[in-house]
Amino acid sequence: MEARREGEAFKRPGIFRPPSERKSYFLPLTSGCSNNTCTFCGLYGAKLRMRDIEDVKHEIDALSLYVRHGIHVAGADEIVYAVARGWDGRRVFLQDGDALVYPFPKLVDALRHLNEKFPELERVGTYATPQDIHRRSVDELRELRRLKLGIFYTGIESGDDDVLQRVGKGVTHHRMVEAGKKAKEAGIALSLTVILGLGGAEGSTRHAMETARVLSDIDPEYAGALTLTLVPGTPLYHEWQQGNFTLISPLEFLGELKTIVENSGFSRCFFSSMHASNYLSVRGELPRDRERIAGEIERVLSSGDASLLRPEFLRGL
Ligand code: SF4
Repeated sequence: MEARREGEAFKRPGIFRPPSERKSYFLPLTSGCSNNTCTFCGLYGAKLRMRDIEDVKHEIDALSLYVRHGIHVAGADEIVYAVARGWDGRRVFLQDGDALVYPFPKLVDALRHLNEKFPELERVGTYATPQDIHRRSVDELRELRRLKLGIFYTGIESGDDDVLQRVGKGVTHHRMVEAGKKAKEAGIALSLTVILGLGGAEGSTRHAMETARVLSDIDPEYAGALTLTLVPGTPLYHEWQQGNFTLISPLEFLGELKTIVENSGFSRCFFSSMHASNYLSVRGELPRDRERIAGEIERVLSSGDASLLRPEFLRGL
């Protein structure tokens, strides 16, 4: 992990958020990602930067003055007010790639300050890698939960150890399950994402089956499928260009989605493929809606009709 050198400038990251956080206030604690080795990700190689805690608290103060009294604080970033205008006042999302990596005492300080200024706040969310979760004890996670940090958004990408190793995820199936259980023990909800197609053509079946298995083992409250989109400049894009990684076809992506829906065992999980990267959007509660969702996917698969899929130009990251 790269540590910030004192005095190093912190540049506010762009907003990259889970769909369910669209009405949140976006509060940056870090930029980049501590685990910047994932070969498919646009943050590959991006340096982790920690924001000064006093800056974070000043932003919370400025937000509070604006929301409660309409006062603009001199010197505060205009983005604070732009984001505040779309804020529902209920949720805050901590940026960036894995804000849970923010040093624990400072994270507690930031959350306390938020709670103090916005006692009506309902929930704080953050991206968290399995490695971040492992850095914290269950008691520490419980303390964060008491301060309303209520949901971790975690990219698990695949349950297949070979795929995880190949894409530089830096964590195994087993360690991801342990991290998930730890968060649940602390009462923090989990929203997990997996990436269809990450095993390439050769590893497709195993990737889908192992991904269903890791989801079942963790048993999260929310799970979402994304479809692999090759990002120019990333190592995986380069592998694809060199012919060392074969992308599966749009209908094969759907096949993986169906395998995951049919083979994952949840207590109760809201599952979706609504993300813009996907060729087909499905959503529902598993296991309750398993048959309906699998049927929706099967209808498109058996028709073989590519016009039923989201066109490439409408797909996004
Ligand atoms: S841990 Fe997540 S944000 Fe960080 S590089 Fe990997 S995929 Fe990207």
